[in-house]
Amino acid sequence: MNRKILRHMSPRRPYTYFTMEIYDKANGIRGAGGLGVLAADTRRVAEDLDIPLITITPFYPKEVHQVFKDDQSLMEIKNIKPSDFDFRHVGYEMINIAGSEPRKLSLYLKELGSTKILSIFEEDLGTLYVSENNNSDERLFQNVANGFGGYRGMRKLGLKPSAMQLNESATAFAALARVDNLVKKGKTLAKAIQYIKRYTLYTNHTLVQFAESEFDLQQFEKYVFPNLTTPEVKTWLRGLFRDNRMRLNTICLELTNMRSGVSKLHTRVADYHELSGKKVNFRAITNGIHLPTWIHPRILNLYLDKEILEDDHLPTWRYKRNIKKLTPGEIRKLKQKGRAELNRVLKKRQNHLGQTIKIPEDAVVFDFKRRFVDYKRPDLPFSDVEKLKTILQEYNAYYLFTGRVFEGDTVMAGRLHDVLDKVAADDFLRERVHYLPDYDEELGRALAIGSDVAINVPIVGLEACGTSFMKDIGNLKLLISTIDGGVADIRLAPILQVTGQTEEEEIQSLYDKMNRAGEILRSDGVLASQIHKQLRGYLPVICGSRMMDDYLRYFFKN
Ligand SMILES: *Cc1c(COP(=O)(O)O)cnc(C)c1O
Repeated sequence: MNRKILRHMSPRRPYTYFTMEIYDKANGIRGAGGLGVLAADTRRVAEDLDIPLITITPFYPKEVHQVFKDDQSLMEIKNIKPSDFDFRHVGYEMINIAGSEPRKLSLYLKELGSTKILSIFEEDLGTLYVSENNNSDERLFQNVANGFGGYRGMRKLGLKPSAMQLNESATAFAALARVDNLVKKGKTLAKAIQYIKRYTLYTNHTLVQFAESEFDLQQFEKYVFPNLTTPEVKTWLRGLFRDNRMRLNTICLELTNMRSGVSKLHTRVADYHELSGKKVNFRAITNGIHLPTWIHPRILNLYLDKEILEDDHLPTWRYKRNIKKLTPGEIRKLKQKGRAELNRVLKKRQNHLGQTIKIPEDAVVFDFKRRFVDYKRPDLPFSDVEKLKTILQEYNAYYLFTGRVFEGDTVMAGRLHDVLDKVAADDFLRERVHYLPDYDEELGRALAIGSDVAINVPIVGLEACGTSFMKDIGNLKLLISTIDGGVADIRLAPILQVTGQTEEEEIQSLYDKMNRAGEILRSDGVLASQIHKQLRGYLPVICGSRMMDDYLRYFFKN
């Protein structure tokens, strides 16, 4: 990485990253999905590279866990607070609310190397909402608290953003607070907007503009306008409403020149328009992962030893040639270590029946780990349970799956139930297929490291990027996937592709590829060559350092 670019930032002028979600349990904050994993990985990569970065995010006092009781997926709430995780109290911010008392936010700071997490806390902040479309007052309040409270809080700490990233439109109020502050200090509105636009990036993870949450003018009157100090900004904001309603991406689009999507395919299909009607061009900056978090340390060491990766975890210039030096023996041995790690984590958990499971060392493991939502098709592998059973028998295999059902999503809860019924009805499947509740980082990592074959079958065109497939590829696993999200970044994706014009064809293709994976695993030579092919294609894609480099170049035009 060209370190010259770092001159644009300093501890007092950090790269400033606003997000409503971060998935970093070690630091006390447990997100709900990919957006939060990305936020946590971005901070960790910055820490490794000694980049001054501040992540501004709510600390939700209620942590949601999934439990399985009497065949039902239920939510359990755990109360937590920032001081349990070594956050330091650094101040207060008030949020005004029309017609009621102001609400007092506490600001907590944690420093981790060159990076900081500034978290916004209030006893009544509630839980992290996980449904995609949420127009509630409570959600709006959370967004306002993070944006206004976070921006003003960082200024009071003497910090000023160099580059500012809005991780999804729910963080729009940070940019609004900044415009308001500039106008208050004497800039004209036009100048303030022009300034903000130059230094702010809006990162979109949603594909459909109309699917994003929308708030009405009354909600804004109550929660947003009372927190603006200048009449100019209030008038300007009023002008953005259409039929008394507004989506937060409107604010993001009006206050940024830089906009990014999270994979190449995503930026091609995202159909967004500015209020003027102009189509939005998103820059493709594919997500990457923090390799030391997600990859078995022995595998990472091997990448460094064989000069596949540089010390900063970017691919070396010879990485393609050096990948070929990973021998079948090394791959098998590392997979064994990974299996031990998986079993270590499984020992602490239970399947949907409350049983603790252990996977034999010589068995094959297929895994499916992603939120239990329709477009990811978690039930696709169960379309024909006889075929699934035959495959598991043939290759002495287990099938492990995990992923939370959204609260209130009765359709998907029903489908999970159906799948588990099918499994329960068959003696062999009951022994070989396990659903693991409460999908989290620990389980995600353990499956990435210790299983043999990952299955990823989103409906093509609906996955913005996805990062769990990256964890799989990094850990020398076989990937079976539809060509969607970040998987589609590489032309002629060198993986076991699930293809088909209809869902029936895709199901057949999925079973074919599961069989193919079983065959590949039987042969050292074929396994090594498939793993080499995957890594040669995807190594630059999965590297978090590559993503960071892309963002910095976009910000600072290097
Ligand atoms: C990696 C990870 C994700 C990201 O999942 P995608 O479906 O690939 O976006 C979500 N949740 C957890 C717990 C993870 O570890």
